[in-house]
Amino acid sequence: RAKHDGRGRTCLFNPELAATLLDRIALETDLRRACANQAIEVAYQPILDARTGRFTGAEALLRWTCETRGEVPPNVFVPVIEELGLIGTIGEMVLERACAAAASWPDHLGVSINVSPLQFGGGTLLATIASTLQRTGLAPHRLQIEITESALLADDTLVLQTLEALRASGLSIALDDFGTGYSSLSYLHRFPIDCIKIDRSFVTRLPHDTGSASIVRAICDLGTSLGLKIAAEGIETEPQRQFIVDHGCSHMQGYRFSRPLDAQAIAALFATSRGSKVAA
Ligand code: C2E
Ligand code: MG
Ligand code: MG
Ligand code: MG
Repeated sequence: RAKHDGRGRTCLFNPELAATLLDRIALETDLRRACANQAIEVAYQPILDARTGRFTGAEALLRWTCETRGEVPPNVFVPVIEELGLIGTIGEMVLERACAAAASWPDHLGVSINVSPLQFGGGTLLATIASTLQRTGLAPHRLQIEITESALLADDTLVLQTLEALRASGLSIALDDFGTGYSSLSYLHRFPIDCIKIDRSFVTRLPHDTGSASIVRAICDLGTSLGLKIAAEGIETEPQRQFIVDHGCSHMQGYRFSRPLDAQAIAALFATSRGSKVAA
């Protein structure tokens, strides 16, 4: 966090800064090793139809349990993986595992994966996804990719063309963390978006916080009038579930229904609850 506040400024040795840098280097070393040793894993959190309470699929989420640090949250390690230039490799690993997992679930269930804005950069995303679908035998309509507004900010034709080609090949596209970024309304018709995911920070404060309630209501109205699916993430309580159902959300996800599960556990859950109602 060095500041350029004046020429000729002498920088004295700062022990706190040095410690921060050393921590960071140690984290990078651990992460490189974890990536190389395939110690990064994928968990799956069920997504449900808000109206029927039936499972519609799951979101794939990266998990890293470090030998020395314990479980490190993806909000901490994904940005480092991006900076290390490893997100392409890790992204392909998630895609491969998630498609293979979903191909073993009942046909009506899909999988949603988070795609980093950096993964659009190489120009190979489309081909990678197509070959992974083919290899795993997963039908394209069972795969959804989640992008954040930062992927759209670049606004280059590459992102737009990639999204349009993905959509044309049968995938669906969700705009993740909606409401936290720029939330430019023009994105919603400029880009081929099928679903908006309302960020957990708003859902968490439902139903009592009037500000969050107004924002969620506005997002639901907007999404409904544009004919989009609307997913609410981070549902933990019955009043939160009731609120989002009453306001027209189509999908829901949260600890109220299930935490993220490992591949075996989610396969077992999906196998035993074929079409059955788990919440309503
Ligand atoms: P996200 O895509 O918005 O994922 C939703 C996050 O909300 C997940 O956190 C999930 O575990 C958490 N969550 C869901 N329901 C609840 C709930 O009821 N209560 C609480 N407290 N949390 C809930 P997680 O797994 O820690 O992931 C954080 C973020 O890391 C993700 O946010 C996503 O932006 C990023 N991420 C995770 N996996 C990947 C990946 O494979 N690729 C990329 N590029 N990013 C990833
Ligand atoms: Mg997501
Ligand atoms: Mg999200
Ligand atoms: Mg989020």
